[in-house]
Amino acid sequence: MIRTEPHVFAGSPLDRAAHLRRDAAALRELLTRPDSRMLPLWRLKALVTVAPTISLAWQPVDVLTDDSRAGEVVFLGLDGKAGRFATGLDGEADPTETGPLLEGAGAFEEVRGLASRLSANETSIAAQARTLIGWHDRHRYCARCGTPTGLADGGYRRDCPDAACGARHFPRTDPVVIMMVVKGDKALLGRQSFWAPGMFSTLAGFMDPGETIEEAVRREVFEETGVRVGDVMYHSSQPWPFPSSLMIGCVGQAISEALNVDTREVEDAAWFTRDQVREGLRLVKSEQSEDGAFHLPFPASIAHQLAAWWVDNG
Ligand SMILES: [Zn+2]
Repeated sequence: MIRTEPHVFAGSPLDRAAHLRRDAAALRELLTRPDSRMLPLWRLKALVTVAPTISLAWQPVDVLTDDSRAGEVVFLGLDGKAGRFATGLDGEADPTETGPLLEGAGAFEEVRGLASRLSANETSIAAQARTLIGWHDRHRYCARCGTPTGLADGGYRRDCPDAACGARHFPRTDPVVIMMVVKGDKALLGRQSFWAPGMFSTLAGFMDPGETIEEAVRREVFEETGVRVGDVMYHSSQPWPFPSSLMIGCVGQAISEALNVDTREVEDAAWFTRDQVREGLRLVKSEQSEDGAFHLPFPASIAHQLAAWWVDNG
């Protein structure tokens, strides 16, 4: 591992206390503690306060358990001895505009947009909540037999109640390889057609079943650009809660240069010099990237951090 400092969306300060998930009585007791709190999400957006500073708008538990809009409750972990929970609010209308009122409510905001505004600790908690609530939203029915499933293990499992089936379903994490492919003083970057003009990023792709990380790196780079990769080094990883990926950051040493871009996979791919990458990082950090000049993704992304590492150390 090259980087040990957690990326944005990682490094939660909560004790996940997995041993409590199967202890329904302990979870019920935690829910009644006066210092326990619950985070509401609506359309996978987290509730934040906006004044005087932006932070997660944690609610006293009974505010939400008494609210008919609240859905299933998931256990995020312990903050000291107090519980931290999350729940999704139903309804078409924005819950901050319809009663009952939520304490300190500013607005429901997309977790991606909060990444550069919330503290690192709160960003990682919002990411955990978004991934879990989103998984429950998308897995209401048993994947084996179609029966409606029920929440178990504090939100880390859904069980099929059908006696003949009895399947247990667990939250999924989808591994994605994301790689800084380099050759000497040049790096290989690509772009998608729907990205902002001028933005290029590290290549990335979902891992195939039965594949190692290094095999996935070599396959994805070759499929998308025709470039062959030799050595693959693990750099660091980042949970990416949109909806449930784990970005596995690598540095790949290219052993060929000629490009054969598959435009069904990427709109374009090209080699960039170290100076160009440095300038592309500077532009996006200084928020001067609107005019379509070459730039990289925002600093919260592992793509940005991989490129920044290479510019200074690679
Ligand atoms: Zn079933």
